[in-house]
Amino acid sequence: MPEQPVLTCRPSWKYQLASAYTDPVELGQYLQLPATWIAQHAPARALFPLRVPRHFAELMAIGNPHDPLLRQVWPLTDEFRQTPGFIEDPLGEKEASAGNAILHKYSSRLLLIVRGGCAVNCRYCFRRHFPYQEHKLGRAELENVHQYLMADTELNEVILSGGDPLMADDTHLEAILSLIESVPHIRRVRIHSRLPVVIPDRLTLDLAKRLEQSRLDTILVIHANHAREISQPLKENLAIWRQHGIHLLNQSVLLREVNDDAETLTELSEALFSAGVLPYYLHQLDKVAGAAHFAVTDEQAGLFMQELRARLPGFLVPKLVREIAGEPSKTPIQI
Ligand SMILES: *Cc1c(COP(=O)(O)O)cnc(C)c1O
Ligand code: SF4
Repeated sequence: MPEQPVLTCRPSWKYQLASAYTDPVELGQYLQLPATWIAQHAPARALFPLRVPRHFAELMAIGNPHDPLLRQVWPLTDEFRQTPGFIEDPLGEKEASAGNAILHKYSSRLLLIVRGGCAVNCRYCFRRHFPYQEHKLGRAELENVHQYLMADTELNEVILSGGDPLMADDTHLEAILSLIESVPHIRRVRIHSRLPVVIPDRLTLDLAKRLEQSRLDTILVIHANHAREISQPLKENLAIWRQHGIHLLNQSVLLREVNDDAETLTELSEALFSAGVLPYYLHQLDKVAGAAHFAVTDEQAGLFMQELRARLPGFLVPKLVREIAGEPSKTPIQI
């Protein structure tokens, strides 16, 4: 009798993107959350749509409405509360949301909004008010970017960001990379993306090979906030990217009831290192309207940092920073 074929391949990243949860009731039922709790909070989706790829949902605990991964993506009635100091555009990035692809805040690096959308909608993100959905770096804009890069020889690094730059397909990224490579004074290209965490299969072998062939130094900064986000498929794909010479870093956001204790942050750093990733930044929350329930005070954050320094080698301690509009770099928080 012929053997049953074994299904070893996972669906493509594009299929996984298209099949993300967008209905809180569906996600809530999959996680077996109390029906009353789902009904109570689901209306907050009107403020910012729910979007959760299935891989990310599979990393959550069943039956726990307070799961730290769920909390990052689940609408809560708290979002309706107005809190002084929490505003729609804390970083002054309205300009970028209006379709401007270039953000040039720091002298040596230029940030490109490659794609406006994301694979996951994080409730704490400033993007909740500017989903710049359809924005795409088209041919005409690429020409602008080229001229901009050529004209400023102080620039040596280009950051591909968004939204999420890995929402663009490999062909589009290829065009962007070729353009950057044609500017002699650019040395590095850096990709900032949360997609690898929520759909690890986005780390395609083809893209890794393309980056390896580049004359540029290449860096991937992933965005994980909790050790449980460092899943087995993510580890496997990161290992392949690393074999292709791509430097791996992580940035996190400090989030109340997600990762706001020294133990959880220690576990995150350890999990990252075991996946070949070094912690880079730990961001204080951008004070965006609807996200005040995620805020941790600077004083508390400083205490966590003290504890992290005692528990971890220096290279596993992220830099605690805040972004302040108008400053020439991220601002370190010192207590
Ligand atoms: C955060 C950010 C960067 C990168 O800053 P690094 O300190 O180099 O990581 C660059 N441009 C903009 C607009 C940024 O917001
Ligand atoms: S920009 Fe990053 S933090 Fe914000 S919604 Fe997209 S993936 Fe989440």
